[in-house]
Order: sequence, then C-alpha cells, then structure tokens
Amino acid sequence: MKTRIAARILGRVQGVGFRPTVYRYATELGLAGFVRNDSQGVAIEVEGDEEVVGQFFSELTLHPPRQAQIADIKTQVLPAAGYNGFQVVESQPTESAQLAIPPDLALCDDCLREVRGSGDRRFRYAFTNCTNCGPRFTIIRDLPYDRARTSMADFTMCPACEHEYHEPRNRRFEAQPNACPVCGPNLVLQTAGGTGLTEKPVEAAQRLLQRGRIVAVKGLGGYHLACDAFSAEIVARLRSRKNRPGKPFAVMFRDLAELKRHCVVSEAEEAELLSAARPIVVLRRAANSMLARNISPDTDTIGAFLPYTPVHHLLLEAFPALVMTSANVTDEPIVSKEAELDRIFGGIADAALFHDREIVHKCDDSVIRVVNGQRQFLRRGRGYVPGALRIAEGSPAVLAVGGELKNTFCVVRDGQAYPSQHIGDLKDFQTLEYFQGEIDEWHRLLRTRPVVIAHDLHPEYLSTKYAQRLADVKLVGVQHHHAHIASVMAEHGLHEPVIGVALDGTGYGPDGTVWGGEFMVADREDFERVAHFKLYPLPGGDKAVEEPWRMATSVMFTEELPVHHRGAALIERMIAADFHVPLTSSAGRLFDAVGAILGLGNVANYEAEVAIRLEAAANPAITDSYSIEIMGRPRPWIVNFGPAIRELVAERKAGVPTSVIAAKFHNTVAAAVLQVCRYIRGQRGLNVVALSGGVFQNELLFKRTVELLQSRLFKVFTNTAVPVNDGGLALGQAAVALARTTASGRSKCA
Ligand code: ZN
Ligand code: ZN
Ligand code: FE
Repeated sequence: MKTRIAARILGRVQGVGFRPTVYRYATELGLAGFVRNDSQGVAIEVEGDEEVVGQFFSELTLHPPRQAQIADIKTQVLPAAGYNGFQVVESQPTESAQLAIPPDLALCDDCLREVRGSGDRRFRYAFTNCTNCGPRFTIIRDLPYDRARTSMADFTMCPACEHEYHEPRNRRFEAQPNACPVCGPNLVLQTAGGTGLTEKPVEAAQRLLQRGRIVAVKGLGGYHLACDAFSAEIVARLRSRKNRPGKPFAVMFRDLAELKRHCVVSEAEEAELLSAARPIVVLRRAANSMLARNISPDTDTIGAFLPYTPVHHLLLEAFPALVMTSANVTDEPIVSKEAELDRIFGGIADAALFHDREIVHKCDDSVIRVVNGQRQFLRRGRGYVPGALRIAEGSPAVLAVGGELKNTFCVVRDGQAYPSQHIGDLKDFQTLEYFQGEIDEWHRLLRTRPVVIAHDLHPEYLSTKYAQRLADVKLVGVQHHHAHIASVMAEHGLHEPVIGVALDGTGYGPDGTVWGGEFMVADREDFERVAHFKLYPLPGGDKAVEEPWRMATSVMFTEELPVHHRGAALIERMIAADFHVPLTSSAGRLFDAVGAILGLGNVANYEAEVAIRLEAAANPAITDSYSIEIMGRPRPWIVNFGPAIRELVAERKAGVPTSVIAAKFHNTVAAAVLQVCRYIRGQRGLNVVALSGGVFQNELLFKRTVELLQSRLFKVFTNTAVPVNDGGLALGQAAVALARTTASGRSKCA
C-alpha cells in the first residue's frame, strides 16, 4: 500500500552529512520525495510502499551518519502527493525556531588518506575536509549553517569542488568548507619581521622547529605555539618567553602509537583521544617517556592530544610529538587573527604558519580527563561547543554571565542551555572584550534576546558588573556554590532537594566571609547552608591565593602551632589587627596551607600549584586519615580540621614521609565529606549527593570521596558536561534563574 510520511528530525543533524545519507537510502529503496535542512533540523518527505518507507526510517535511525545525533523524530502521515524521484531541496533561512550549530570536527580517515595519497588532487592539501570532518563553529558567521554564511564564503569553489558539493552521492555533498588547492585557503610561513613564504611553508616550519625555534601555528579556534617536546632547554625557553613558569603544556603526538610510548592510555581514554572532538586528555606519563620533564614539572601527567587538522598531520610527519600550547600572552585570550600576530612575534614566537581562512569564533582546545570511566571537563571548548543541553521544558530566554576566572557564559533558549566556550580571566581587558563580543554573537546566531540575566553575587566580578549594565532585563543573583551544585542538578535532570557538597577555591558569601568548603541542602531555586569548613583568616585576600605560605601561617597561628616562616610575624600582626584578613571556609585554601606546611612550595606560579603538588605527592595506597570534629549547634555545623592539622604537623616533625601525610590529609577531607553527608541524611532523609567546585579537580580527593559515599549507599552525581571549576558556574546560574522565574511554588529547602 502506498503511503507518504513527513518527518522532522531534531538533534545534531546539520553539517554532518545527513541529507546525502537520506538521499542515498531513499534512492536505494526507490522512494520519492525530498529532504531539506530547516531551522529546526532536517525535514523529510518520503512516498512509496508502506513497508519500504518503514524500512527507510529504520535504516536511517539504525545507521545515521557518523557525526549525527538524532534527538527526536516526529512523523506525520499525509495524503499521497505523487512525487517524482527524490530531491535534496535548498535550505530556507527562517528567523524563528531552534538552530543547531555543529561543533568543529577532527579530520576524518577518508580525508587523511587523500592528504597522504600522492595521486590525489588533495595530496598534502592543508584544508581538506568533507561532511564528516572539518571546521564548523569556528567559521560560522550566521545561521543556518551554509557556506555563504561562513568564512569559506571568501573562497569561490572551482568546478571540481563545485561538482562534489552538488553531487548527493559524493562525500562532499554540501560540505560547506569544501576546498582544494585550486580554490581554497593557502598556507603561509612568516618569520618575525620577514616576508611571507608560500612555497613549501610546512617544510620551512619543520626546519625552524628542528632548529629549536618556536613557531605559532594557526589551527581551528586560534593559534598554537609549537616547539620541540624532547628538549628541556627549548621548553624552558618557551616557558620564559610566555612567562609561564610551571603550568603544564599540552603535547600533540603524531599518532596513537607514538602517544602510547609516552602515556598510559585506558580504553575509555583512547576513545576520547580518537573522538571527532579530539580533546586534550590528561594522561599518566609513561615511566620511560623521554619527553622533556619540564612540560609538566609538578605532576606525572601529560596533557596529550592527536592531530585534528591536515596542517597538524603534515607538520607532525617530521616529529613524533610537539609541544602545542595556546598562543597567548599570560591571561589574554588565544590569538586568532593575523592582525594580532605582532603580540606574539618577537617576544614569543620566531615564526608563524598561518592561512587566509578567517577564524570567526576563537575557541580554545578542550581539556578532559577520564575518572571512574567518565569524562570530566577541565576546560570545555573546541569540539564540544556549541553543544546544548535541555534543562527545562520551554522557558524565558536567559543569559547567565558566569564567574570571573575561567569564565564561560550560558545562553538558554526554549529550555535548551548553550554553555559557551572557555572565555578566560575577565580581569584581562581583551578577554573582557572577547566575553562581550561572544555574548552578542551567540544571541545573534541563536536569534534570541535575554529577558533574565543570572550572575554571581560577587559585586566586584566583572561579569556581575556587565550584567548590571544591561537594560530591560530581570537580574537574578546566584550564590557561587549554589550555582556549582545547580550545575550538577541541571546536567542530570535533578529537581528534588539534594545534599550539595561544593569544595572550591573562593566564592562570595552573603555573610561577609569568603566561602569555599560548603555543604548545603539545595534544589534549583534555593539552598540552605548546613555545614561549612572551619573559618580561617585569609591574610591579604587574593594575595593569599598566590602565596600559600600566608594561608599556612594563618592556619598554624589559629591552631596555636609554632610558625617559622620569615613573613610569619607580619601575618600574625595582620590577623591580630584584623587588617585586610577576611575569614574563609575555602577548601582550596586548606589544601594550599597543608601543601605549604609540608614544604611543597610557598608561592603558586599558576592556580593551585601547591595543592597540585600535594596531590602529586600523596601515596594512594595509604588509607589512614587524621581526626576531625564536627561542631556547632544550631546549624551551620563547622567542620573543624584543627585536630588533623595538629596531628599532621606532629607527624612531619617525627619524620613521617610527605607521601604518607599528603595521602592521609586527602583521606581526611573525604572522610569529613562522608560524615557530614551522613548527618544530613540522618536529619533530612536525603540520599542524593551532588559534588562540584574546583577542588574536585583533585582526582585523588574526588575518587576517595565518591568511593566513601558510594560505600555508604549514597547516590553521587558530579559534572560531566561542564567543568566542576568556575567554567561550570554559568550553567548552574542559568538553572537557578530559570527555577526562580518559572517557580511553581516555594523552594522545598529554604
Ligand atoms: Zn573528511
Ligand atoms: Zn576546488
Ligand atoms: Fe567556584
């Protein structure tokens, strides 16, 4: 029996070769009708024998194109229209409705084969791509996603490319960035102060790298700085030029086999490394790796990734591995335009390998880690952005502006949350401009305007100040740690009250103290602070973050233990005089203090350096812990680590190895979390725990805490779609703002 079905396919279905696949299945089955992209996804009409039409849809759902993600299929039976053949219809840009923006995809194997195949017309061509791979988000000027609305509009396709682009059977059918050596972008190598070289620029860059030079390389979302990964001397030069003494550099390996010679890789990690998002994956360094030690001086991990553009593949033919770190100056955003090159020329890079395809959206590499078999983001950017999460059923348009460091923002439109790419430290002026520019761009792309703005309660955050300057919007202030916990709730679709454990660096507390070791009963609307870490003076405020010895002195002084640091007298006077010493419950500062007490460093050259050394020092085989007290009535309870501090100081004096003390301290914090959660469960009958906050980037602490909680049958959730650090705040802020503006009733926890 003849039938005609209209179907609308939602999800990630544009820019991933969906229509050619539909065309192929339909023509193979002899069905008539059409397929086209529209503002909601893909629209299909098929006409033919009922059974064959059914076969078509099952084929499509069972074997969609590799990069597609079908979220939903809505079908409707229509009267026969008598279509003749099957057509791919041009897309019609419309103003309203949901717009899917594809993320950038790593070069696929088919394209790599062409780049390496000497007979191919794309042999060694650095901008080869197809519907399964290539740039997407970073080249999009407007939607729907179509060549004319990308930076590839600057290049006119040659007849051969044009043919591929219009041939539904071709792998490059409507591959928007389709290009070849005849018609597409070209590479240039330029030395600082010199002229551009277009003859064999990759080979010239390789020669410079072999001679120990630092070369800026234009990628998808910005420039990298590349250098030899095996020479400590060259890596040290890059460190001094970038003014980055200790923070790890990422390393790009030629291929997986080479990577495995230097890093220990699990099956789950391998899948992440090879995924189309091609993130930097933090891996354990192999014992016999000859990579320069100063790539990651404080840990035995390597941020490893694989080539994701043809340029990377070509460049790495001459090297087993290269350091590839974002090209920027300290806290400035990543360099993405040739006009910005003089910022890194001379001072940092000796040469630049670039091209004439414009990067429309800056986007840093994503950094992930696999813990307990699950992906955790340390930084979310290229390859995942602008992927969305459904956090509500239809809603007002919300913009959450995030925190101040590691900023991301989040746009909510029709209940879909779009977390932005990593923006960075807003205190840098150029980063602030990048933040404002991307917020405007995302709203233009998504055809939305916020009516609700969510921001942190910190009045001095530049994101808060930005929010307060916006007119005609409703402002919703969200407490920092409530936002962290709400981000977990939003990710996992949790609506009922949970036990929220936010172990964090610093966040604004409404009571005038600096929060950061927080236990709360929270739902999406509100929270009650049930317990927190003991308060210690934070001598010099932010200064104490950069100089952990200050915090160590403060903790020792408070616990009435003798201090020997030369600056101690000053800190004691500051505390005694209550001069510029806010009180803090910060978990991050407690880790800093213990690290400094154990002699692991007095100053942090990068965020949490001393705490990171404390984790690296810990022997995970040790299971003992120190004593703590939970005090205070009525709530909030105080989690007092004073006894633990006294015990660990005594052990240090007695010569107990640092590896043992560091491990016991981690175990102590995990045990404290368990104990408080058990108290809360006892009183409130809650069994679901949400863990978030930057301190949970500490893998040992995270694993111990989850292990303990699960052993007592708590159901534990944490962030897997956004970072646990402040990069995840915006999503949480958005969830709270939505809950407050669409509140069905009073919060169950306030
Ligand atoms: Zn491809
Ligand atoms: Zn061409
Ligand atoms: Fe935070």
